[in-house]
Amino acid sequence: MALEPCKDCGREVSTFAESCPNCGRPQSERLQKKDLARLLDGKASRAPAPPRVEVVLKGRKYEAVGFVLMVTGVFAFCLSGLVESVLLAAIGGLLLLVGFAVAIVGRCM
Ligand SMILES: [Zn+2]
Repeated sequence: MALEPCKDCGREVSTFAESCPNCGRPQSERLQKKDLARLLDGKASRAPAPPRVEVVLKGRKYEAVGFVLMVTGVFAFCLSGLVESVLLAAIGGLLLLVGFAVAIVGRCM
């Protein structure tokens, strides 16, 4: 809660107070109009914010895809031991590596 001096009597008045408790001067119209305009201006000037959020989400998506690839790779690798398939082991290893790389890229985004 911020305090501002009243323009009439100079007494400290809360910025949330509708009027000065000392002299009764209304504070709200000055506050609301100016601060609202400033807030709106601040939001307008911060227009490049949404793409940044999108990048973060995109990074999360890559991270999730990388994680799924890694899990699939480990699964394929384990399965290759059961069925004794070198090809499946190679695919599993490759998936694990690619998934790891994708997850790292996603985290760095
Ligand atoms: Zn006052």
